[in-house]
Amino acid sequence: MKTLPEYLDLAAVAHGHICAGQVLGVRLAMCGLRELGIDDPVADRKRLVTYVEIDRCVTDAVALVAHCRLGKRALKFRDWGKVAATFCDLHTARAVRIAARESSKQAARDMFPDLPKEEGQQKAYAQLPDDILFSKEWVKVDIHPEDLPGFKGPRVVCAQCGEGINFKREIIRDGRALCRSCAGDKYYSSL
Ligand SMILES: [Zn+2]
Ligand SMILES: [Zn+2]
Repeated sequence: MKTLPEYLDLAAVAHGHICAGQVLGVRLAMCGLRELGIDDPVADRKRLVTYVEIDRCVTDAVALVAHCRLGKRALKFRDWGKVAATFCDLHTARAVRIAARESSKQAARDMFPDLPKEEGQQKAYAQLPDDILFSKEWVKVDIHPEDLPGFKGPRVVCAQCGEGINFKREIIRDGRALCRSCAGDKYYSSL
């Protein structure tokens, strides 16, 4: 694992700026990896799947440190609006969920009451102990084979729109294989 300052330099480049979210995210991921005993997330990249629970600044830092990417299927997004991530070790089948404590913001303010909020948070999140910043819990995550990186399976063509569907995401209705969109689970509507 790299050091906190090394990760923060990389995070500033990857994310576009340094912010309290980067510091908290780097700390959160380092904490999770340490718990799992993964010391080199780059060398161990096939070992780790990470679930993030928010799409904010902190997520970019978690993905950077854990070396998990959406495009590699090693980063999973659950839109729960929570500053938390679960790190799953595929080798040992252990998983640990690290969540930012609700009290961490106040702890940061108390540490540097005279600094502007953002600056104080950046400094405090770099220094406060893990136990003040995060709660951690050992959990079990059932990752289906089709959700794992490297899954190979047949590609199905939607009986309605004709588009290809990967990773067993088709929905069988009246004997026809439909994509989620054609099955009614749409996030857009045609104009
Ligand atoms: Zn940011
Ligand atoms: Zn379709």
